[in-house]
Order: sequence, then C-alpha cells, then structure tokens
Amino acid sequence: MSGKEWTKSAWRSYPARQQPAWPDLALYEQVLRDMSELPPLVFAGEVRTLREQLAEAGEGKAFVLQCGDCAEDFSRCTGPAIREMLKVILQMSVVLAYAGERRVVKIGRMAGQYAKPRSSDTELVDGVELPSYRGDMVNSPEPTAEARTPDPRRMQEGYFRAAATLNLVRAFTRGGYAALDHVREWHRQSLDALPTVEKYEQLAREIGKTINFMTAIGLDSNNPIMGQVTLFTSHEALLLGYEEAMTRRDSTTGDWYDCSAHMLWIGDRTRQADGAHVEFLRGVRNPVGIKVGPAHEIDDIKRLVHILNPANEPGRLTLITRFGTDKIGRFLPPLVKEIQREGFKVVWSCDPMHGNTYQNDFGQKSRNFGDILGEIRKFFDVHHAEGSVAGGVHLELTGDNVTECTGGGRQLLDEHLGQNYQTTCDPRLNAEQSVELAFELAGLFRG
Ligand code: PEP
Ligand code: MN
Repeated sequence: MSGKEWTKSAWRSYPARQQPAWPDLALYEQVLRDMSELPPLVFAGEVRTLREQLAEAGEGKAFVLQCGDCAEDFSRCTGPAIREMLKVILQMSVVLAYAGERRVVKIGRMAGQYAKPRSSDTELVDGVELPSYRGDMVNSPEPTAEARTPDPRRMQEGYFRAAATLNLVRAFTRGGYAALDHVREWHRQSLDALPTVEKYEQLAREIGKTINFMTAIGLDSNNPIMGQVTLFTSHEALLLGYEEAMTRRDSTTGDWYDCSAHMLWIGDRTRQADGAHVEFLRGVRNPVGIKVGPAHEIDDIKRLVHILNPANEPGRLTLITRFGTDKIGRFLPPLVKEIQREGFKVVWSCDPMHGNTYQNDFGQKSRNFGDILGEIRKFFDVHHAEGSVAGGVHLELTGDNVTECTGGGRQLLDEHLGQNYQTTCDPRLNAEQSVELAFELAGLFRG
C-alpha cells in the first residue's frame, strides 16, 4: 500500500479498529466538516523542530521525556491541573538534563489525549451491559447507557479543551513560569517532602548549586532565553475522523501535517500494517510513535517501519516498547538486533507502564514503582549491550497527589490506593513518585 497515492481521507477504505459506533453518522460528518475549518492547534514549523530534536535523541544527543495522563479528563482541564502537570514535567526534565548532560525533549500526553482503545466494546456494570468508556472525546465514564452513548460533538469539545490547554501551556512556558529559579524552589519543596530524600541529596545539591551559578552569571529568568522552555504535545491517533479533520497542507512546503498535536502515536492494538491507522499516518509529516507490546511479529514491525518511514529519515519514527519488566529481557534484544541489522533509524523509547499493569484484590488497576523502574533499568541494559541508544521514556503520570501506583518512597500498598484513586483509565504515577523516578533515571545515566 505504501506505493499508492495518499489522501487524508484514503484511510476510510481500510479496516479501522477501535472506532466508536457513532449513532448518528450525519451528525458525525457534520462535526468533522465544521472542525476542518477551525484553526490548527500546532504549526508545521514546530513539528519540524520536534522532528529535528527527536533525530538528536536517536543519536543519544538528547533524551525524550514523553508523559502525561493515560486519558485526559474534560473536567480536569483547569488552570491548577495543567500547572501541576507542567511543574512535574519541568522538575523531572531538569534532573534528567543535568544527569544526562543532554537536552530533554519534553512531550506531553496532553492537549488532546482524549480517546482510548478498549479490549472490549462493552462491559458489565452491576449486571448491565454498557458500551465501554472510550475517552472523553467519545463518551462519558458514568455507568449509564446515556452517558456511554458516543456523541461526535464531544470531539469538537475535545478540540476546544485541547486549545485551552495548549494556550495555558504556551503562556507558562513562554512567560517565565518555567524559569530555573522557579524549578529550584519546587525542588526544594518536593525534596523536603520526599521520604527517601537522603538517597538523592547529593544530586539535588549539585543541581541547586548549578542553578545558583547560572543565576550568578546572569542566566536567570530576566534573561529572555532562560525564562522559556518548549513543551510539545502528543496523543494516540485513534479517532481517524478527528485526525483527518485536523490535517492541513503546510503552505511553505506543500506537505501534509496533522495539526492536532506535534507528535502522534499508534497504539499496540491499531498498528496493523494494512490497517487504516497506518494508512493515515504514513501521509502526514509529524513524528510518529509505534507502541510495541509482547504480541508482535518482528517482520510486522519491520514492514511498519518501512511503510511509515520509507526514506529512513531520523526523528520520524519512535518505537515505544512496552513489554513489562518480566518480558523485556526476552522481547527487546531480538527486536533491536533486527532493526539495527536493517539500518533503520528509530528512536527507542521505553513505556514501562502498560506491560506492568495488574488488578489488585480491591478491583483497582495498579502498577508498582519497582516494576516500572525495573523495566526501565533493563531497557538501558539491553540498549547498552546491543550498542543502540536508549532514547527516552514514555510515562503515565500526573501532577496531582493521587494514589494509583504502589511503591515509591512512601511505599504505597494496594490497601492505600482507595485514599485518592482518581483515574478514569490507567493508573498514573503521582507527582512525588514521578520526581523520584527522575532521580532514579538520573542514576542510570550516571552509570
Ligand atoms: C496508552 O498509551 O494509554 C495505551 C493504551 O497504550 P498501548 O497502546 O501501548 O496499550
Ligand atoms: Mn494507558
């Protein structure tokens, strides 16, 4: 199929998995037509910058920190929630940049991560079969038939909430909020609260001293460069109608860009080489991620890499592996060997969340901090052994003080998770666990 001419609607004649059963197709098409007239959320030039930075990550000159909610929640599109998410991402990135001595490419699962693939179309709630919740851009999580009925107008609401989120992110990252002297202050606060602070004290002190030095020589927030950072956006390109409606032709190059986010990824469930998701994404110039779980054939991944990046352009493709801490040792080495043997240029990123999910005795989905860290450690070990580059991590986390993942400095147990279990989808690291993970990662960079 890669030889055929591409159009932004050609995906419609390919099998598309995980699409909602929209009850009113005329309304669905009307919403998409309206959306295709709305302004783009991101610009082609920004997307090209991200591709260049990802190319650096592929060579080990930068490190990718891609993170955010499993599913963003319309009701959490608020100033404080966005600010807290940004804060934790910036804190982590300073630790990683310092320890890794390289640029940290910050990509949020933010401003559009509103659609979810599900293992089943329906679920049983108290003996009643209801359509599964598919993300706020499709339906609502409340367990009633009405709330669960897909409504295409929610896609347009998702667009406006993504725009509002991105607007605040742009304001914060351009307006001095992200300045290093603020980061130093947040560090002080969160380190003071961290139960395992002694473990990280030396590194934290070094970072503090470096920021002091930079301030002393005038590289402080009054300096126009130092007060600014860039946070790119990303989400799973799942609802192809939405993605098509957001796709625009760049006036300078004539190329097509999906302007719903800087980077899009294809989920583990929708990455069929002859499927609609791959057909759509092969034609847009955004960086694309491919999730790869244990149930893959190496030949299929090679086909995908060829279809999505025929010119073998660095920065175009990120392989996001998510095997689980018990399985990564078996699955990652042969995959890396084959991709290397073919000479394919990819960024290797580790999603240590989706292969480590379990259901506890209280019926909650959780993940353990030790398993998450364990998969990341093995990811670094394998790439070191294979002579490839561990280019980044892909995490589900929040700036809020939730109790969804067990372990970490506070040694949260399954019986504690009820205290503040908020997610509508997968369990996320809380702010404290996230900062702790960044310090552990820093230790891996330093060997
Ligand atoms: C996700 O990233 O939330 C997700 C559903 O991942 P995967 O496609 O890897 O299962
Ligand atoms: Mn998830």
